[in-house]
Amino acid sequence: MEFQFTKEQETFRGEVQTFIDDNWSPPPVTARPGDPDTNAASALFQKSLAKKGWLTMAWPKEYGGLGASHMQQLIFREETSYRGAPGGGGQGISMVGPCLMVHGTEEQKKEHLPKIAGAEVSWAQGFSEPGSGSDLASLQTRAIRDGDDFVINGQKIWTSGAHDSDWIHILTRTDPDAPKHRGISYFLLDMRTPGITVRPLVNMLGDHEFNEVFFEDVRVPAANMMGDENRGWYVGATLLDFERSGVGWSANGRRQVEQLTQYARDTSGPDGKLIDSPGVRAALADRRIEVEISRLLSYRVVWMQSQDEIPNYEASMSKAYGSELSQRIALFGMGMLGLSSQLVEESDPHAPLKGEFGRAYMRTVPATIAAGTSEIQRNIIATRGLGLPRG
Ligand SMILES: Cc1cc2nc3c(=O)[nH]c(=O)nc-3n(C[C@H](O)[C@H](O)[C@H](O)COP(=O)(O)OP(=O)(O)OC[C@H]3O[C@@H](n4cnc5c(N)ncnc54)[C@H](O)[C@@H]3O)c2cc1C
Repeated sequence: MEFQFTKEQETFRGEVQTFIDDNWSPPPVTARPGDPDTNAASALFQKSLAKKGWLTMAWPKEYGGLGASHMQQLIFREETSYRGAPGGGGQGISMVGPCLMVHGTEEQKKEHLPKIAGAEVSWAQGFSEPGSGSDLASLQTRAIRDGDDFVINGQKIWTSGAHDSDWIHILTRTDPDAPKHRGISYFLLDMRTPGITVRPLVNMLGDHEFNEVFFEDVRVPAANMMGDENRGWYVGATLLDFERSGVGWSANGRRQVEQLTQYARDTSGPDGKLIDSPGVRAALADRRIEVEISRLLSYRVVWMQSQDEIPNYEASMSKAYGSELSQRIALFGMGMLGLSSQLVEESDPHAPLKGEFGRAYMRTVPATIAAGTSEIQRNIIATRGLGLPRG
């Protein structure tokens, strides 16, 4: 069996490739995520994508999209990921916008959707708390009604990009006496509201990507609630359905395996022998097979969406496999390139492949934690996919 795209889809793929090659220069591999220069270049490129309507191509036309198919969007994401270009458009596009279309009021849609589609605002996600990650429904940040407002007190953690975001979409507890899933409400909150403090959390690479966010008597208009009061958990559940198919894992992995394969070729001796790490040939073949499996798992998710089905454990399979594969490729790359792969400065002449794999090795650690850990994905696959009882 051979999966094939239509002629139109292949033409579109070519158009995306050309646009990226003409308009996007990847930052140096040593550029820190969140560097002002990297951010500015990324924002500029996203705006050019927004202008073409590509960031929201699968949104309905009435909400500023192109009404394109999920498959077309997958092709776009595959090409941007393969080329390391920022094509996701952030949480506004992948989560808040689609969620607003289902649960938002007309005023909320009017206010937010055009700005999201135009890449004019950035959003952070205020879900996790110090005691509530995997068990998200146990969250404690409180919102109490006061006239036309709610007043929020509490703390969020691991909030990616909160320091650069204009808005935050946040889950709060509005009824502490109800069963935990039924006392949660969902708000859209302007990050400039008085009482919000963002404190950086620096990761092991020294990068500032996520934060702690504190809320002290923060007033949010009741009109900013998305969905009904105390039904925020179910709004949040819709949002998780909009998270990505995972095609980025396979596209990025394919590029890395190609880089390693080329390196093996370039460094093979005159007798055609590969570099002297044992098992390189077989391991490269294994990683290539795994990239293909990852690709097919993500295609399945998108195919279901194209059939108006909501992917569930299928998306967990794609996420668990793709994120673990990113770690396997990075680990294998480190081993294949040898000790010097620990040199991660692009300008270092002794750093193989400009230090990419040393950094990938560290950067992929959180892949199996963010957006639901591998253990949680496996719980979902076991219960909802295999029908096994809860452990
Ligand atoms: C890079 C990164 C970016 C993030 N960005 C955001 C963000 O922008 N906004 C946001 O709200 N959150 C964000 N998070 C937080 C992320 O959603 C949580 O880290 C994740 O849900 C796990 O929660 P926890 O860290 O509290 O770990 P815990 O839930 O405490 O889990 C600890 C360990 O126990 C395991 N475990 C827990 N429960 C079970 C179970 N029932 N069965 C089996 N094993 C279990 C977990 O798999 C894990 O190994 C981010 C995290 C990372 C790493």
